Amino acid sequence: MDLGLSIVLPGNMERATRTSKLTARNPQSPMLHYLRIGLFLFLFLFSAPHSRAQVLDERVFRQSRMIMGTSVEITVSQTDSQRAEEAMAAAFREVERMDGLMSHYRQESEVSQITRHAGEREIPVSPETLAVIERALYFSRLSGGAFDITIGPVFRLWNFREGKIPEEKSLQENLKKVDYRKIKVDRLKSSVYLESRGMVLDLGAIAKGYAVDRAAAVLRKEGVENFLINAGGDLTVSGAKGKGMPWSIGIQHPRLPSELLAKLRPVRAAVATSGDYEKFFFKGGERYHHILTPSTGLPARECQSVTIMAPSAMDADVLATSTFVLGPKEGFALLERLPDVHAIIVDRRGNVLLSPRWPAAILSPP
Ligand code: ADP
Ligand code: MG
Repeated sequence: MDLGLSIVLPGNMERATRTSKLTARNPQSPMLHYLRIGLFLFLFLFSAPHSRAQVLDERVFRQSRMIMGTSVEITVSQTDSQRAEEAMAAAFREVERMDGLMSHYRQESEVSQITRHAGEREIPVSPETLAVIERALYFSRLSGGAFDITIGPVFRLWNFREGKIPEEKSLQENLKKVDYRKIKVDRLKSSVYLESRGMVLDLGAIAKGYAVDRAAAVLRKEGVENFLINAGGDLTVSGAKGKGMPWSIGIQHPRLPSELLAKLRPVRAAVATSGDYEKFFFKGGERYHHILTPSTGLPARECQSVTIMAPSAMDADVLATSTFVLGPKEGFALLERLPDVHAIIVDRRGNVLLSPRWPAAILSPP
């Protein structure tokens, strides 16, 4: 064992070299001999086996499933493969449970029941559905109605697959049914009621984010701390991929599908992106996409994409959509009022705008 090298102190090569020379000149010194054995034992018992185990056992596991109409991908960095598998399975079950409660495509979901009985009666709901609807209402008020989960009747008129623009008459008819103030939540009874017939709930801009938060909570409960969960652009990261290897999140360029706009490397944060390139069609040289301005029922025109970093994926999801609808000026004004929320906006001309307090260390060019 080269004692001289073993005791190199960071940033102190000069002293380490001198120690090494001393060892070479006086190899029989009993004091030094015991020091050597002590140091050897220390390194052997603590440092060496520990670091070797980490290197050998650390593995990255990834699984994806189609849930909520998107590919949900969970990646964990974990030494124990069985724990990783079990934790991921439990996390996917949780995402599926959220889909079962909140999907407006599933007949029996709580959200579909609320819609089916609009103007008739209140529907008892789970604490999860209640929490999501209350949070949605909070952001509807904060955004002055730019975010509105009663967008359903108008959203249904759009057919992005076939490239159809709604008829003006039915657009105007259905716009009357869009109003978040007509959602009545009774917290004590844990029930939700839509005041007018024909109202339709659509949690498409919040439920995925919430499901990601729930999946993250499940992973932590299962003892997994290093993970990345991505539900079609709504994602959360925790810890790191490996020693000195932070998770890396690529932000897609809104006009160049195979290029990244930037990379983020947060240690613990949620990130969501809303873009006009997800579901869209062109007609008459104009792009029509799936993020609608609730007052007009037409696609919002001020942005190409909005990426939000926030403490929760639910908030990031909502705020990406809200900011997209509001546009850069009003969007930044809204975000400024919220702690620990940051944004990258690509405006309609393609300018990339950063909110002022972006933590520079975690943002880099692609
Ligand atoms: P994505 O679903 O592609 O991640 P978003 O998170 O921005 O994108 O959500 C868009 C979805 O939210 C739409 O498909 C629709 O269901 C719903 N939606 C569209 N416009 C609004 C709006 N102004 N407020 C609330 N929900 C909306
Ligand atoms: Mg969203």
